[in-house]
Amino acid sequence: MKKFDTDLMHPRDQITMIIDKIYRSGLTTTSGGNVSVMDENGDMWVTPAAIDKGSLRASDIVIVKQDGSIEGRHKPSSEYPFHKAIYECRPDIKAVVHAHPPALVSFSIVRQIPNTNIIPQAKNVCGKIGYAPYELPGTETLGEQIALQFKKGPNAVIMENHGTVVGGSDLGDAFQRFETLEFCGRTIIYGNTIGSPKYLSNSEIEEFENQIPRLLPEMAHVEHPSDERAIREEIKKIVHRACDQGLMISSYGTVSVRWRENDFLITPTNVARWNIQNSDIVQIKDGNREPGKLPSRSTWLHQEIYKRNPEVNSIILTQTPYLMAYSVTDEKLNVRTIPESWVFLQDVPNVPFGSHFAGQEIILKLLSDETPAIIINNDSVLVTGDKLLGTFDRLEVAEFSAKSLTMGASLGTLVPINDDQVEALREKFLS
Ligand SMILES: [Zn+2]
Repeated sequence: MKKFDTDLMHPRDQITMIIDKIYRSGLTTTSGGNVSVMDENGDMWVTPAAIDKGSLRASDIVIVKQDGSIEGRHKPSSEYPFHKAIYECRPDIKAVVHAHPPALVSFSIVRQIPNTNIIPQAKNVCGKIGYAPYELPGTETLGEQIALQFKKGPNAVIMENHGTVVGGSDLGDAFQRFETLEFCGRTIIYGNTIGSPKYLSNSEIEEFENQIPRLLPEMAHVEHPSDERAIREEIKKIVHRACDQGLMISSYGTVSVRWRENDFLITPTNVARWNIQNSDIVQIKDGNREPGKLPSRSTWLHQEIYKRNPEVNSIILTQTPYLMAYSVTDEKLNVRTIPESWVFLQDVPNVPFGSHFAGQEIILKLLSDETPAIIINNDSVLVTGDKLLGTFDRLEVAEFSAKSLTMGASLGTLVPINDDQVEALREKFLS
């Protein structure tokens, strides 16, 4: 996949790439949703009305010129008036995404705003969320109600009995906010399905930001031998696969692979995960980082795991929709209910929020052959293993198990196998 680049790509190419991503992620239907970009001339590039979102081409994108005239092969989206209203009241916003993603529509029909204090980056990426009362779709009045919310400062608004609209400094920024807000909504909904979600306080979220260690020093000279390049390709492929499979979103997720001894390669912090290329991945060697690159903010944790666990050769730290339900509630992911998953994962413990902060020992002491996966409360899931593909498989098994347990919770009591049956499994598969 080519790199999404808001500085160098034409707005119509940006829009087709992002709408394709939104459609393929199941965040809009063929006919619903619209995306626009405001260019430096004051012209708005916008998706057309009633054209299949699954096969949109750059030539389908319509221009609404600054003077109000329209150019293009199609009519602009019927909801373009509210895009225009947002740009008029917020000159800092250069891209708008509107859609009807399932979780946020759920919030809009119970007339609630998702509480983004559920996970730190939801709060940081989404910011304050506005709420626009119902108005007839496609009308100027709807535009006025939405603009009224954006004027007060939020970059994301829940539209009552309708969906959501999100703005950004560019289309990458707007998409990331849109995707993160929907993820936050799903996490709260699945958390509610199995128990009751717990939220972080503002000071806990600040504490997370404040503990991020200073960047490692830059190495003076960097080399990329063949085995190092092979790891870059392997990491990129797994990150893209995780995004495609709904196991990672733009704004969160780190993958690393041990290279030689305690040296490793790790994903960067400042690149949307689905857009990561081989050249973005950061080499960490002798405690130094590759010059000019910003490694994941969890580099410290990866570094310590490689130092202390010689059997761990790859690590994935991510957020997946169903595992996060077990991260934000007091409910336990009881893998003993699904014996074949237990063989892959064994027991998956929870650790409190903050256990992943620099200098904390709890995760490092807990990780072992018998505990390869850990759920960090209100943050993420950490999965370790030997080969990266095996670690990814382990993540998939964990997420599938969490999905089955979440769905099972609505049917009846979840029944695990007994201790003797667990011992028999251990004997046959793990000894
Ligand atoms: Zn709509």
